[in-house]
Amino acid sequence: MKRLVILGATGSIGLNALDVVRTHPDDFKVVALAALRSREACEALAAEFGAKAYVGEDAAVRAVEESDADICLVSTVGVSGIRPTLAAIAKGMDIALATKEVMVMAGELVTGEARRRGVRFLPVDSEHSAIFQCLAGGGERFVDRLILTASGGPFLDSPADLSSVTVAEALNHPRWKMGPKVTIDSSTMMNKGFEVLEARWLFDIPAERIDVVVHPESIVHSLVTFNDGATLAQLSPPDMRVAIQYALTWPGRLASERERLDLAALGALTFREPDCARFPCLRLVKDALRMGGCATATLAAADEWAVQAFLDGRIGYADIARAVESCLEKAPKTECDSIEAVFAASDWAFRYLETEWKH
Ligand code: MG
Repeated sequence: MKRLVILGATGSIGLNALDVVRTHPDDFKVVALAALRSREACEALAAEFGAKAYVGEDAAVRAVEESDADICLVSTVGVSGIRPTLAAIAKGMDIALATKEVMVMAGELVTGEARRRGVRFLPVDSEHSAIFQCLAGGGERFVDRLILTASGGPFLDSPADLSSVTVAEALNHPRWKMGPKVTIDSSTMMNKGFEVLEARWLFDIPAERIDVVVHPESIVHSLVTFNDGATLAQLSPPDMRVAIQYALTWPGRLASERERLDLAALGALTFREPDCARFPCLRLVKDALRMGGCATATLAAADEWAVQAFLDGRIGYADIARAVESCLEKAPKTECDSIEAVFAASDWAFRYLETEWKH
């Protein structure tokens, strides 16, 4: 039986993970749940699973420090995932990672710590889970390219001009029901950019060897091309519990009654190039990688600020990419050699956007 700590327990990933546990009560024991704000929901879940509930700003770190678990599922929102991830690594827990900002902002640091402690990252994101599954059995040594698929989000084909997009339109994702931050990031394709960065650190592959292909049906979750020319893909109906469950059962699997893929009923699967002109966030991620240092931390913090400002009605949709771009241009160049440097870059971005940036 694996013992689990779930951070971000009341969000969509946390709730889906708990659903996996509910259907396999003999395989998992939830020892602690943490939530930032939803006290009532967190306490109700804790009562159901016989776990301890932690709520508030430092809930995630406390839940880790006061628990003894095999796996820590990190599914908090944004930068708040970094400290609890480091705390869980320090305690020797494997990390089932859903919060991609951890890798985007501090990938080099956290993967270095994990190597030192002999701790494993188990991807929860459907794309990275797909790659992880394609690599099962030691394929890492033979990788030529990773190919991340992208649904393309709600604005794949229209409108041509994205500047008048409303909050309600951006929150209406065609495939996945997720929290507002990830849903907006999916619509701008910043989410896919973050996934490139996440894959870079999770699988230790340079970003130049990671491609993005748009695949609106979201059936092929990602692919790996090996150095002999073979390409493997992982396919399943779009249900995030498949990836969540694999992270928790790796290296094994557990039977489920979930929907099976019916290829003949699907008929066709389509693929195309992403449109970097309409979705500048994909380009901005590559810019940040080229800049090096803490630039990807600046990028993620700027995006976190901009998405919140958009949701609050303070800036327009096209301003999200503009805010990130402006931040990358103006940010001081800093070495990314400590967690303090990561947070300094993040704080700088929030301060700059709040006080100086004109949109
Ligand atoms: Mg994803």
